[in-house]
Amino acid sequence: MTTKQKKLKIGWFSFTCCEDSTIMFVEMLNDNFFAFKKLFEFRHANVLQSNNTLSDIDVAFVEGAIASDKDKEKLLKIRKNSQYIVAIGSCAVTGLPSGHRNNFDDKLKKEISPYLLQFDQADTVYALHELVDVDDKVPGCPMIEKTFIEVVDKYLKKFKIIDQSDSITNHS
Ligand code: SF4
Repeated sequence: MTTKQKKLKIGWFSFTCCEDSTIMFVEMLNDNFFAFKKLFEFRHANVLQSNNTLSDIDVAFVEGAIASDKDKEKLLKIRKNSQYIVAIGSCAVTGLPSGHRNNFDDKLKKEISPYLLQFDQADTVYALHELVDVDDKVPGCPMIEKTFIEVVDKYLKKFKIIDQSDSITNHS
């Protein structure tokens, strides 16, 4: 009898940003498709599938800054339904560059205010850690791939999906 491979239940989410880290993640499938398929259960990943569930997530990888009340509500829901949250890329980690409007002077802020209203955008753009607890960060613009792999390995080990001396890269 074969034992069923345990998988890390992950979510991949993208907020206000250019989504380059999401593109990198998808590009990584070129080299790691079988490792990802074997070791991850994609609970929520709009970029890869249309059937998504926002519940019972082990690790949520979240890209982008939070720029509207709707974003904030979704982020709080992700926090509630995920054991760990990893901020992906500079916009999620620091709020910049997507939150550039926070640094506008008063004149410029007044000029853009009708657009904020029109597109339901908040006056202030937030990094994830300003609104929820963040467990890990992968900095970079876009994200640093080596750090991302290290963080993924950390959680695969924490959830006992791979051995302590192993890496996802050995499963490709
Ligand atoms: S951190 Fe850079 S690459 Fe990532 S979403 Fe923001 S602007 Fe784009």
